[in-house]
Amino acid sequence: MFSESTLYIVATPIGHRDDLSARAIDLLRQVDRIYAEDTRHSLPLLRHHGIDTRTWALHEHNEESRIDMVKEHLQTGASAALITDAGTPLISDPGFRLVRACQRDGIRVSPVPGPCAVTAALSVSGLPTDRFQFVGFPPARSGARKTWLQPLAQLPHTLVIYESPHRIVECLADIADIVGDTRPMTLARELTKRFETVLHGTVNEVAAAVSEDSNQQRGEFVLVLGGTSTEDALGGENAPVIDLDKTILVLLQHLPVKTVARCTAELCGVTRKLAYDRALELQRR
Ligand code: SAM
Repeated sequence: MFSESTLYIVATPIGHRDDLSARAIDLLRQVDRIYAEDTRHSLPLLRHHGIDTRTWALHEHNEESRIDMVKEHLQTGASAALITDAGTPLISDPGFRLVRACQRDGIRVSPVPGPCAVTAALSVSGLPTDRFQFVGFPPARSGARKTWLQPLAQLPHTLVIYESPHRIVECLADIADIVGDTRPMTLARELTKRFETVLHGTVNEVAAAVSEDSNQQRGEFVLVLGGTSTEDALGGENAPVIDLDKTILVLLQHLPVKTVARCTAELCGVTRKLAYDRALELQRR
């Protein structure tokens, strides 16, 4: 399985250090170099697994300037692995520019799959996973975050959001404001670590549990948010999926906009404001 002149993209644990796969361990021992987002951070994990391959730093601030060096090294027939601080490289992590550059030059890039907070959180969310959208980290400021949430609030499928401990309370409040406080959600905190917590409930219930307990505001978070059709998906296999735009368009044929907004909010689990704005938009078209 091991080839020369190849860049391996290797997933590492998101918490529990034994989640590094047997193949990842083998490969990290065999490659000539490991490019790591933070070499000091990765060293304990590598040492724990008996990996003493030389590490080089490759992070978002030096990725561009490292590209030529990595390519030249691989073109001599050497092999290398890219790892980040946790989980799968390129998923809200560095590596995209390097992978593109290698592909453009015909250098083989091969994945060594493993942990990722997105899939770990989805797998315990109890929310529909047949269709989902990963949207990364929301903007840091509330105004920009609310604008960012507006179009997402209308989507029928599950959303996966990363958030940091400094902003978790404010972010949950903004979700309640824009998406609605009755939408089902799962908050996955510190997955695979000592204080792993998975909270299920409505946005309101989860937001209350987090704001009332400062321990719940610590660590790393993934928010899994049900889409507008979640209730129907959870209601039974044959339940119809309620599409927000379709609902609004049908109701607009019979009712004034304000009533459309009220009915849509109830049917689709979105806020009246969101339903009202969308109804105006669709009416204009
Ligand atoms: N590349 C990583 C992956 O594959 O998930 C993500 C890196 S991103 C810089 C870090 C974010 O991932 C955290 O802020 C948090 O939102 C999420 N995350 C990482 N580890 C986690 C864990 N153990 N539990 C919950 N969320 C986690």
